[in-house]
Amino acid sequence: MPDPLKPDRLKTELLADLGYASPQSEALAILDASPYSNPRKTRISEAKREPVAQLLATRLFRVCQRGDCQARAAELADGRIPVTATGPAACEICGGAAAGQALAAMRAACAQAGWTRICIVGGSPKTRREIRQTTPPPPELRLIDGTIARSAGQARIDLAWAHHVVLWGGTQLDHKVSNLYMPAANSSTVVKRGVQGLWAHLAEAARRAGRQARD
Ligand SMILES: [Zn+2]
Repeated sequence: MPDPLKPDRLKTELLADLGYASPQSEALAILDASPYSNPRKTRISEAKREPVAQLLATRLFRVCQRGDCQARAAELADGRIPVTATGPAACEICGGAAAGQALAAMRAACAQAGWTRICIVGGSPKTRREIRQTTPPPPELRLIDGTIARSAGQARIDLAWAHHVVLWGGTQLDHKVSNLYMPAANSSTVVKRGVQGLWAHLAEAARRAGRQARD
């Protein structure tokens, strides 16, 4: 949910957040021609993030610098203007495909293991937001801020609720939070930073649990 108390952000910052690399000329031109933006201002309300993201996605096609993505851009753009993505994760050719495959594999493995509730402890606020926006259930996800003190009781409730708890190491995760979940049989730790690595780990954990249940 947009926070009404958040100050307006630079348009260039919002665009970078949405995966548009500088110089962002096409994105800024479309934004400033839309009802969401005042062309005389350099800032924009965070509340307009979603409509702006949707508008730009209909007109522009984000492609990373990789040679094979660049080569396929014109063919796959589907009438949109190819523009430079901030990186492979924001690339609509390789990023979307790889992340989509990792997510699909995680979903399939969880379904197979009968896991419908997953708790993830750690990650940055940005990655948690990204996960919320891009990962509707199943499985249902409970995302825990690893920097805010949690009581042993809350952790027990999380562990009882979730079929599996993933501790996202190498991210913003305090030991006093992760230690609450550590010894449990249904928890595991992943040290890969990206969301894709998180899904790959979870898929593997679900496959292992599925095999154990069958043996
Ligand atoms: Zn790419």
